[in-house]
Amino acid sequence: MEKRDKIYEGKAKILYKTDDPDKLIQYFKDDATAFNAAKKGTVVDKGVMNNKISTKIFEFLESEGIVTHYEKMLSDREMLIKKVSIVPVEVVVRNKAAGSLCRNLGVEEGKKLPISVLEFCYKRDDLNDPLMNECHIIALELATQEELDKIKEIALKINALMSKFFANLNLELIDFKLEFGRFKGGIILADEISPDTCRLWEIGTGKRLDKDRFRHDLGNVEEAYQEVLSRVSK
Ligand code: UDP
Repeated sequence: MEKRDKIYEGKAKILYKTDDPDKLIQYFKDDATAFNAAKKGTVVDKGVMNNKISTKIFEFLESEGIVTHYEKMLSDREMLIKKVSIVPVEVVVRNKAAGSLCRNLGVEEGKKLPISVLEFCYKRDDLNDPLMNECHIIALELATQEELDKIKEIALKINALMSKFFANLNLELIDFKLEFGRFKGGIILADEISPDTCRLWEIGTGKRLDKDRFRHDLGNVEEAYQEVLSRVSK
């Protein structure tokens, strides 16, 4: 697989064309940002760890019937993916209250939510990725109702699968963010799933093993990502 022109560079990843028009290379960087890039830094080897963690999770989800953009891991920092057209909506699923839910709605961190909470944010850096509802998504023609229904169904299925997957590794899946893409007329899972995009708390100790260590300067960021990698690799 030949790596060609760079087509996109985001905060944590770069996308390159390949010699196959239907495939891209997703390259994972060590750069870390939080609070819509107000806080910036790097985490040593985060890209390597997130590539490997994402690979394990995509392989698990595929084995459970979820269609993803994942094709294969090419190197420490590179993943071969299907070229999709990204739906410009970030989908957040929450099981316990944390982060912006606590800030925005005054809920105590760690409160168990009696239902899984689905949230949507408009992928617009210039607007700071604002929260939006289903009517906004349809009215702005970001997705059709049929696509949105599919996205919600897949997101909830992924929540059930990943909650169990992480519980087996003694980790509680508090919340996470997904992105979806259009591929051959359908909707498939895209982007990455890693401690950058999930909150994971160790069961029993409540130890944060995710990007909150970077966001809130809790220290041992690299060690936390490494711990997640070693658990998903078992
Ligand atoms: N999240 C993400 N990218 C974003 C915003 C959120 O991956 O641009 C993830 C985040 O890591 C967490 C979940 O989505 O697992 C919910 O994030 P929240 O809105 O609480 O984020 P905060 O504002 O606290 O960073």
